[in-house]
Amino acid sequence: MIWYPYVQMKHMPAPYEITAAEGVYLYTKDAKLIDSVSSWWCAIHGYRNPVITAAIKEQADKFSHVMLGGLTHEPAKKLSDKLQSWLPGDLDYCFYSDSGSVAVEVALKMALQYFVNRGELQRTKVLSLTHAYHGDTFKAMEVGDDEDYHFVLQAYGAKKNVIHVPTEIPALEKAFAEHHAELNAFIVEPLLQGAGGMRMYDISFLQRARELCDEYGVLLIFDEVATGFGRTGHRFVADVVLPDILVLGKALTGGHIGHAVTVANHRVYDGFYDDDPAHAFMHGPTFMGNALACAAALKSIELFEQGNYMERIARIESILKREMAGFADPRIREVRVMGGCVCVEVTSPEVLSGYQEFAYARGVFSRPFLCCLYAMVPYIITEEELVRITDTMKAWFTERPLA
Ligand SMILES: *Cc1c(COP(=O)(O)O)cnc(C)c1O
Repeated sequence: MIWYPYVQMKHMPAPYEITAAEGVYLYTKDAKLIDSVSSWWCAIHGYRNPVITAAIKEQADKFSHVMLGGLTHEPAKKLSDKLQSWLPGDLDYCFYSDSGSVAVEVALKMALQYFVNRGELQRTKVLSLTHAYHGDTFKAMEVGDDEDYHFVLQAYGAKKNVIHVPTEIPALEKAFAEHHAELNAFIVEPLLQGAGGMRMYDISFLQRARELCDEYGVLLIFDEVATGFGRTGHRFVADVVLPDILVLGKALTGGHIGHAVTVANHRVYDGFYDDDPAHAFMHGPTFMGNALACAAALKSIELFEQGNYMERIARIESILKREMAGFADPRIREVRVMGGCVCVEVTSPEVLSGYQEFAYARGVFSRPFLCCLYAMVPYIITEEELVRITDTMKAWFTERPLA
């Protein structure tokens, strides 16, 4: 049987069984639902996109997978060329892996080994944000800061190699002043912290982070697994502030098949590139550069470029802002909108208990977590569909007034 994620199996309500998925819609035996969360934020073109589906089929007819150990192939080469030209600055070197968590592991291992290769063995620590989420593998959990997901780490006692800072410039400056000599990297979810509570913060924090990293020689890692491909209203936050290592996942393949990439700049790559075999990067996921995933990612990027996605996202943002403007309730702490993301933060998780069923009855699939009632919609959504999502959120409060 299936062991489901993030849930007490003993008390789990039956999950909705999906029989078909097309565009923004999920279908069950008896319902048609707008997916307001894009399957954990990845299905940016909606489901069963015909262009991506055709690209996967075409590649499957040639071959589905060969390893990148001693072998290479056209889909991986083409995707790397595309990313190299498409991504900002000198983010040119693509290391593939099968998931966002692994791509984060790769980034952190790269940062550590970059300094080991230089003989700077004291640089063992990583700076990361409070409320950070970077995935569920062990190093990703360690740089994460969320007891709701990662309390199991408490079994190991206090963290030795990670320092957390809030998204406040004075705290950041203090952390750099105190710890710079032992830091190898600062890892952040730029502008929008997703699973840690849909927290939004200002670009000035990242600009200061870039300056401090430069001043102290620390590598800046942007985990854009969630924020990449337009989610914040920027194509990539890396377009505004340039990191040394960029991690992409989730929407990389338009959500059609799992894959991720860790992209390094010249400085990082050059830290490995010399005559010493021990300076090679010793990592290699079996399914890295999977041909079906690379073919899907190439088509997804093409759709993103040709479909005026940045304009679509700006339109989504303005509709979300218009629909949620002034909406208030004693049970709501704050309503936040950024790009293709809206979050209604409530005063306690109980406020959202029963919301999923309420939304289902109105033709919307939603999955609130902690105090977050949120939507991260597919970018192909129409205004009418989007308003159905926000109307459902508002109805949860207006139709169930406090006694
Ligand atoms: C989802 C997520 C990850 C983990 O990606 P997986 O593909 O689930 O392993 C890492 N970082 C961020 C910011 C994420 O949102």
